[in-house]
Amino acid sequence: MRFAIDLRQCQDHGHCAFTSSAFDLDGRGRLAVRKPGLQQFVSEPLPASLRDEIEEAVFACPAQAIDLLDDDA
Ligand code: SF4
Repeated sequence: MRFAIDLRQCQDHGHCAFTSSAFDLDGRGRLAVRKPGLQQFVSEPLPASLRDEIEEAVFACPAQAIDLLDDDA
């Protein structure tokens, strides 16, 4: 399982970081994975134990910018 963030849609509301430890904000309150020119971030494979909180982050994101990806789907 991984998650993807569409960085063009994300508006740095930060709800995901408050919902799941898999998301981090930088010192300016923006997603820490942001890099100039990067349009999409895809996480490394994550343990299944994080699924519930990542699903919560998907629903919490007001910009609908997060997708949960099943590696074995
Ligand atoms: S909740 Fe959504 S809009 Fe807010 S920082 Fe996370 S991915 Fe971006």
